[in-house]
Amino acid sequence: MSIETKTTCPYCGVGCGVIARVDEDGEVSVKGDPDHPANFGRLCSKGSALAETIDLDGRLLYPEIDGRTTSWDEALDLTARRFSETIAEYGPDSVAFYVSGQCLTEDYYVANKLMKGFIGSANIDTNSRLCMASSVAGHRRAFGTDTVPGVYEDLELAELIVLVGSNLAWCHPVLNQRIQAARQVRPDMKIVTIDPRRSVTSDLADMHLTIKSDGDVALFNGLLTHLAGSPAFDHDYVSAHTIGFRDARQAALTRSMPDVAAETGLSVAELGAFYRLFETTEKVVTCYSQGVNQSSVGSDKVNAIINCHLATGRIGRPGMGPFSLTGQPNAMGGREVGGLANMLAAHMDIEDEVARDRVQRFWNSPTIAAKPGLKAVEMFEAVADGRIKALWIMATNPVVSMPDADRVREAIRNCPFVVVSDIQRNTDTAALAHILLPAAGWGEKDGTVTNSERRISRQRNFLGLPRQARPDWWHMAEVAKRMGFNGFDYDGPADIFAEHAALSGFENGGMRDFDIGAKADISPDSFEAMSPFQWPHRKGVDEGVTRFFAQGKFYTPDRKARFVPVTSARDDRTTRDAPFTLNSGRIRDQWHTMTRTGKAARLSAHLAEPFVEINPVDAMKLGIDKANLVRVENCYGSVVLRALLTERQPRGGIFVPMHWNDAYSANARVATLLAPRTDPISGQPALKSTGAQVRPA
Ligand code: SF4
Repeated sequence: MSIETKTTCPYCGVGCGVIARVDEDGEVSVKGDPDHPANFGRLCSKGSALAETIDLDGRLLYPEIDGRTTSWDEALDLTARRFSETIAEYGPDSVAFYVSGQCLTEDYYVANKLMKGFIGSANIDTNSRLCMASSVAGHRRAFGTDTVPGVYEDLELAELIVLVGSNLAWCHPVLNQRIQAARQVRPDMKIVTIDPRRSVTSDLADMHLTIKSDGDVALFNGLLTHLAGSPAFDHDYVSAHTIGFRDARQAALTRSMPDVAAETGLSVAELGAFYRLFETTEKVVTCYSQGVNQSSVGSDKVNAIINCHLATGRIGRPGMGPFSLTGQPNAMGGREVGGLANMLAAHMDIEDEVARDRVQRFWNSPTIAAKPGLKAVEMFEAVADGRIKALWIMATNPVVSMPDADRVREAIRNCPFVVVSDIQRNTDTAALAHILLPAAGWGEKDGTVTNSERRISRQRNFLGLPRQARPDWWHMAEVAKRMGFNGFDYDGPADIFAEHAALSGFENGGMRDFDIGAKADISPDSFEAMSPFQWPHRKGVDEGVTRFFAQGKFYTPDRKARFVPVTSARDDRTTRDAPFTLNSGRIRDQWHTMTRTGKAARLSAHLAEPFVEINPVDAMKLGIDKANLVRVENCYGSVVLRALLTERQPRGGIFVPMHWNDAYSANARVATLLAPRTDPISGQPALKSTGAQVRPA
């Protein structure tokens, strides 16, 4: 008899429901879950190929110390001893955890609790820093908390969808499918894409603006100026529910329309057409993704967008609002438990003494981190200069994904003690570990994830744990116990989730935005049966909240939203030696550093090898013909790629996919070229605008 299990896709932030079926002979197949409110049965190419990625080929199945297979006891004892000794000799800030948006919320919760409440440092950061930290910062500045106001249904109800820095058709494919289905029913629905290159998503748009890289602040400041003088300006909303409009408008006015045109690379006519469309369409959703976030001015871009929605009162209502699309399946869950170096837990602020005291009392912990820890780029700099002496990397591959990746590789190589928890044995990062801990993979692990619309769904196991693989939360809890800490005796993920839910509702009088206290009494059986729900879901309330801010009440002390004045200019890093603006990003059928999707042959059929997109005129000037091998290089590194000549790429810019690791293609890690430049507010690295040179290989 075959058995079907409802679970969630482990790839992007759409968070699609999946039904996994295991036949009598052990054969696994997947299909979309028709009842899941994120996808209603749809799956994209990556989700449909999940069953082809779960074999044990290449898996890390036993703990290892310096390449030697060992027992769990020996590996955990040594990990605990080396972390304890390092902390005793150099202090709690000499150790760090670098975790992942691939971790389940329960993994994140235990790691955050161990680091902040028991070790006493906030040196826990995550690859989600590379994904959505600028959106977090923008939300907190505008709303007082990191809260996504809208829901996916708004994309279907909108009359205009503005996609900024988002190749939705490839990066959030099922959301794109939902929009296209809604458009079939309402052909008047308009789509505008704003991107330095023409993507497949742009082909589906009514208007595409080929903006200069990082021209977004100027574009949306120009829009704010336009809206302020138009009938769309909602004076009543602005005066009743916001603060700071005058300053934001003043900041926007520092650029005239010709200035905006020069900064964005768009003509005054293009700007006017976009501004009029936005002005005259009430139901607007502005979606933004990595083209906004992965920038040295990412937080300002987010607030420039939010300012326009506040000025028109188009927020918290059906079919309207700013909408951050998270990249990873559980970037949101990590935020909820405080799995970032500058957050505490349950969306509380680490710099808030009252919140610190509250969390410490809840955890009954010996200490609590008193200040923010090192954010991702800073963390690897601290590894490089010896401040971090013991590092635990979990479910991520920074040697391929972090900017200045060769320096990151050297930093990890020279770190006195490195632990890597992973499902794969031979990742670029695992090769540098002193201790390897085998983790449970998708289909084997059990817990929760939160998608871009704040919906918490279950990832369920339908396969046994292979050999010695164990879930990540168990790795952390076992080391915590061996370090002598109480409070880590968990029976399983239901137990951890219940504690996390209880903390979210602890001493908040039902007022904190993130509150799932209604789930605090959950039993293993009810956890098993849990249906997807949106937070907050407070005790005594039947259901979670869908849209936020419908009443115009925000989470600032006076309950008013903040306009944020933003003036930042483009941060052009091209030089004579590196004259091209290098943009990096995803392709349709691969995920992150390919350690899983690389296993499915059909996913490699779409784009089989790493490439650089370059405009044909630029290519001709450089003596490059189509499909030539070319070298892309700058002061950080050098890679060899296949040239893909395309008019989609405007002159002066190039695009390289982020995925290829050394196992699939030697010398193609684009992150080796990316400058470790960050947004000063969010700490998110600028992964889309490094200067680079191209020449025939
Ligand atoms: Fe998975 Fe995202 Fe595709 Fe949905 S859209 S199936 S979550 S990769």
